[in-house]
Amino acid sequence: MDQEKAELQQLARQDRIPHAQLFLGDFGSAALGLALAFARLVLCEQSGEEPCETCPACLKSGRWIHPDLHFSFPVIGEKKTSNDFLTTWREFISQHPYGQPSDWFGKMGEENKLGNINVAECHQIFQKLSYTIVEGRYKILLLWGPEFLGKEGNRLLKLIEEPPQNTLFLLVGADADRILPTILSRCQLVKVRPFRDPEIAEALQALSLAGAHESTTWAYLADGNLGQAIHLSSVSERPVADLLLTWLRTCYSDKGPKLMLLVEKLARMGREEQKSLFQYGLYFIRQMALAWSDRSDAIRLSETEKTAAIKMVNTLDLDRLQEMITLFDESLRSIERNANAKILFLNVSIQLHAVLRDQMRFIPSMN
Ligand SMILES: [Zn+2]
Repeated sequence: MDQEKAELQQLARQDRIPHAQLFLGDFGSAALGLALAFARLVLCEQSGEEPCETCPACLKSGRWIHPDLHFSFPVIGEKKTSNDFLTTWREFISQHPYGQPSDWFGKMGEENKLGNINVAECHQIFQKLSYTIVEGRYKILLLWGPEFLGKEGNRLLKLIEEPPQNTLFLLVGADADRILPTILSRCQLVKVRPFRDPEIAEALQALSLAGAHESTTWAYLADGNLGQAIHLSSVSERPVADLLLTWLRTCYSDKGPKLMLLVEKLARMGREEQKSLFQYGLYFIRQMALAWSDRSDAIRLSETEKTAAIKMVNTLDLDRLQEMITLFDESLRSIERNANAKILFLNVSIQLHAVLRDQMRFIPSMN
C-alpha cells in the first residue's frame, strides 16, 4: 500500500487533488482504508504526511463525525438513505475498513438482501454537497460501492464532472465492470493491489484473531483479501488446517467409532466454521494438485501441511483429486443451503474413506 499512500500524500501536500477519485480494489482490500485515511489527511489542519490526530478536525474525523465529511453507501429499503444508518456505518468502518457488502447488509440486519444506492440517496448527495463548508478548505463525499448505483447514478454525472468549489468525491469500488462507465470515465483511478500474505498474517495477529501459524493458513486461503481472512479467522474456533488433516486421516483409518465421534464434533460446529473447513479443504486439494503436476515449488502451505499434501498426493491420481474437489464443492453448497450437518459429514466421511482407501491401501500412515 506504501506506493499508493505516498502518491496520495503527495497530492494532498501539493494541493492538486483531483475532484473525483475512484479507489479500486476488492472489498476487503485496503481501498476503503486508504480513502478514509486520505479524507482525514485532507481535512487535517496541519500539513503533515499523516493526520496529526490532535487538531480539532482530526478529533472529529477520527470518530467519523467531521461536518465536512459526508458518506454515501448502499442501504436496504426504497425510501431509506445513508443518513438513516450513519451510526451503524460509523461502527462498521471503525471496527475495520475491510468489510464486504454482505457484512454491511448483515450489520443492517438483512444478511440475505442486496441493498442499493437509490434515487432518494442521489437527491441527498446533491443536498449534502450544497451545504457550505463548515470548517476546513474542502468538503468530501465518500461513496462506498458505486457498483450499487443503478441508472440513478447518471443523475450524479454533472455533479461529479463539475462539482461545487472545493468539493472532493472519493469513490470506493471493487468491480470496474459493474460501475457505470459514465461515472468511471469521470474519475481519476487509484488502483489498490491485493494484500500480500505476510501483511494479512500480521494484521490478523495484530487484531488478536489468530496466532502465527493459523494466521498464515488464513492468509493463503484469503488470497489477498484481508476482509475475507478476518471473516474466516473470526468464525473458526479451531485451527482449520489441523482439523482438516485430522479428518482426512480419520477417514483413511478403519476406526469407525473414532470417525463417528469426529463427525459429531464437526456437525456441532457453527455453519460458518463448517463452510471455512470445506473452503480450506478445496484449497488444500488444489495445492495437492500442484504437487501432483510436479509444481511443488508453487505450493502455498505451511511446512507441516505441505509435507502432508505431498505424501498424500503420491498415492492419489488426478481422478481421485477431482472426486475430492467435487465432494467438497457440493458439500460447501449443501451447507449454504442449510443441509443437515450430521448426515452431510457422515456421508462425506464415508465417501472420503472410499476415495482415499482406493488409492492408499499400501500406505501405512499419512503422517
Ligand atoms: Zn489534524
